[in-house]
Amino acid sequence: MSPGARPLRVAVVGTGPAGCYAAEHLLNRDDVAVEINMFDRLPTPYGLVRAGVAPDHPQTKRAARLFEWTAARPGVQMNLNVDIGRHLSHEELLAHHHAVVYAVGATRDRTLGIAGEHLPGSHGAGDFVGWYNGHPDHRTRTFDLSGQRAVIVGNGNVALDIARILLLPPDTLAVTDIADHALTALRRSNLSEVVLLGRRGPAHAAFTSPELLALGDLPDIDVVFEPPGILADDSTSRGAIDTGRSYSARLKHSIMREFAGRAATSNGRRIILKFLSSPMEILGDTRVDAVRIVRNHLVLNADGQFVTRPTTDTEVLQMSLVLRAIGYRVAPIAGVPVDRLGGTIANIDGRVIDPSSQRPLSGVYTTGWSKRGPSGVIGTNKKCSLETVESILDDHAKNLLPEPPRDLADLDRLIAQRQPAVVDINAWRRIDASERRRGHATGRPRVKFTRVEQMLAVSGT
Ligand code: NAP
Repeated sequence: MSPGARPLRVAVVGTGPAGCYAAEHLLNRDDVAVEINMFDRLPTPYGLVRAGVAPDHPQTKRAARLFEWTAARPGVQMNLNVDIGRHLSHEELLAHHHAVVYAVGATRDRTLGIAGEHLPGSHGAGDFVGWYNGHPDHRTRTFDLSGQRAVIVGNGNVALDIARILLLPPDTLAVTDIADHALTALRRSNLSEVVLLGRRGPAHAAFTSPELLALGDLPDIDVVFEPPGILADDSTSRGAIDTGRSYSARLKHSIMREFAGRAATSNGRRIILKFLSSPMEILGDTRVDAVRIVRNHLVLNADGQFVTRPTTDTEVLQMSLVLRAIGYRVAPIAGVPVDRLGGTIANIDGRVIDPSSQRPLSGVYTTGWSKRGPSGVIGTNKKCSLETVESILDDHAKNLLPEPPRDLADLDRLIAQRQPAVVDINAWRRIDASERRRGHATGRPRVKFTRVEQMLAVSGT
């Protein structure tokens, strides 16, 4: 850094893993001085580490310790409870920073586009995950757990998380940071069977091996595979394994075969991984009561991908709750373009582009799920954010980031005016300490506040 050079001012919108890794990468450069303003619309930081990771996975939540460290580093200002698009516009952020990085995730549930999808009792996975994790936006949702069977569409890791939460003994969840309202509802649940619909075969299942392995350790829950014989003799699936779907597909296949060989427990609670099955319509008059499923066969397309083709073989499965765990898309922000299908913010290597001209918008970047879509684990965002930071620094080195017309004192004035209840790092620490104290009394890591007013009341702001 040349003496007297002015720091690069960067706004990072979103304090989840992608935003925190982007800040960390920027701070670790010794050739550029940076000043980082981090924003989050909730008074609590760290995005999916708090609101996405399942409560029975406390070890995964340890990533928050690293992000605490980043948030407290000199040069970082946390502005929590400030909603970009409501309290401050995209244009206002740009007027105060050389660069704005959107690390806003993908918060909208994808839809299937089938009849009955919007009946009561049919929900997106994001709603359910937000509910059991105490996200303020989802805390008042209700889920009918009075029936015996729930169906989850999709077989990624989110589907497995939900299946576990629905069937784990409530006393196991009672020592976690699961939201109190969810624990109370799950204690009253009658569910004994969760069916995961995978549209392709076992070799294409989206869940990862560690998550699959963990299913086999659940107390008194059987893991069952359908249609019968699918693991032994599904020639299309085996073909997929043999024609190169990697070590990972083979490993998952052998784990599934091992599970399939186990004796059933007497408890009767089951997770059914049902392959080659797609929902055609969700049935019910005033609320869901069944799903019509079609059996698929797989064909290899010109790109070497196995894709589904429906057969004429259908069945109707009674159930009282259906959850779509089929991925997410970004929530639009005024002034920030999305891609053609509306899944992500339009970008090339993290540089946000005008989709019609494909040209970068000066000073606007993205990282994480809003950049690449909902894929990967927490650590995946480290590499993803590095690429975005390299794009920012390249542009900076080429003098493509003009000096912002307004200074940070002006921004602080604007924030104080628009959102006096801004939560800084110390105010967040008071919320955090208060939640931990509440948990300590009952042997839990924390008892979350789920209302913004409760959080603000203990934050001292
Ligand atoms: P995902 O892994 O992409 O799985 C989505 C599932 O939905 C796939 O089974 C997909 O089938 C299916 N699907 C998509 N569109 C469909 C349609 N129209 N009809 C029927 N099925 C459809 O997504 P995710 O489970 O939401 O997870 C998102 C990311 O978070 C993943 O990278 C995941 O690994 C990660 N995550 C990790 C953990 C963990 O490490 N513990 C926990 C939760 C989430 P196809 O495969 O046929 O497309």
